Amino acid sequence: MSSADLPVLVLRKNEDRRLRAGHLWVYSNEVDTRKTPLSAFEAGSLAVVQSATGQALGAAYVNPHSLICARLLSRRPRTLFDAGFFERRISSALRLRESLFDRPFYRMVFGESDALPGLVVDRYDDVLVVQITTAGMERFRTDILEALQQVVAPAGILLLNDNPVRALEGLDQETEVIGMVPENVVLEEGGARFEVPLAGGQKTGWYFDQRDNRLAMHKYVKNGKRVLDVFSYVGAWGVQAAVAGASEVCCVDSSSVALEAIARNCEANNVDDKVKIEGGDAFDIMGAMKEAGRKFDVVIVDPPAFIKRRKHIKAGEKGYARLNRLAMQLLVPDGILISCSCSMHLSEERLQNILLQSARKLARNLQIVERGFQAIDHPVHPAIPETAYLKALFCRVPAT
Ligand code: SAH
Repeated sequence: MSSADLPVLVLRKNEDRRLRAGHLWVYSNEVDTRKTPLSAFEAGSLAVVQSATGQALGAAYVNPHSLICARLLSRRPRTLFDAGFFERRISSALRLRESLFDRPFYRMVFGESDALPGLVVDRYDDVLVVQITTAGMERFRTDILEALQQVVAPAGILLLNDNPVRALEGLDQETEVIGMVPENVVLEEGGARFEVPLAGGQKTGWYFDQRDNRLAMHKYVKNGKRVLDVFSYVGAWGVQAAVAGASEVCCVDSSSVALEAIARNCEANNVDDKVKIEGGDAFDIMGAMKEAGRKFDVVIVDPPAFIKRRKHIKAGEKGYARLNRLAMQLLVPDGILISCSCSMHLSEERLQNILLQSARKLARNLQIVERGFQAIDHPVHPAIPETAYLKALFCRVPAT
């Protein structure tokens, strides 16, 4: 569809500043709804975004029901949005990954950061896992799939559209398989081999974003360290720690799919004698370990986002504080805590403060030894702070 004949979405005075500064989002309170009522737009329809002074800022897709009511797809108002458009954007994203990685396992498209708001694509060799999270991108599903075929020609595509944010966009939860998608894929990281559930699992896929942080972990666990991996999912940290030279590892997760995958991954790497698997609630298990006087040299906490939305900040921060205090209580003197957060609403500085407060509550000191970030297949859009979301603080809790 050419945007030559698109309706116009007019912004209020000065509300064009964020877009001009590089951002891609328009919030509903920035629209001049007297001139262009949002109710006139269908969810996912296209519009030319115009400043109050009448300048066209680009073409966007609109969702009148969402707080972020428009996302810019192109700075050129007359762009033709077809499979070719998506092919060019996806090719650009792919070129970056191909230049960075030897093997085709990575996040291939990272939404706004790759100028494709609402689209995430993970690549496992010739299988792609696609997530579409907005009504605007959903409109282009066919073009996107065609573009992926042109650019990658995968054996299979799993459309994993079960993300809860889809409900906020008025979209259904669904998964669809195109071509050949195996139940599990196999990948390698840090000298270990992992089988990762794709379809079927309630938790799906691989956390590529933690790749560099897991590699950074190796030096802390080698030479026979005892390691606790909390929220371990398929054992990405824990199994790798065992392979990297830890003497004992305990993996904790509450999901049965994850627990089964950990067991298989231990076997595949011949570390089943070193790795213990505990199923249940992380807080309960850590509490019981504390009561029993259990200690570890290294504790890794990599929880799901406790703060998914702004209104959860207070409760979420409490959760991080409780979790990290428990983790510190399970450390030997001079132990290492690797504390992660993927909540975009929690800054690194805030996490660091929470860790410091947790240490002080226990009358302990804290050293930040290393700082980790999301891996390089998750580029940051410099105008959109939300795209920089992952933190991993490597801390030492010294004996004195
Ligand atoms: N560390 C993993 C990713 C963790 S994802 C990696 O690097 O691959 C978060 C995991 O936490 C999921 O596997 C989920 O099953 C688990 N989880 C969520 N809530 C939990 C709880 N209360 N107790 C234990 N595990 C939990």
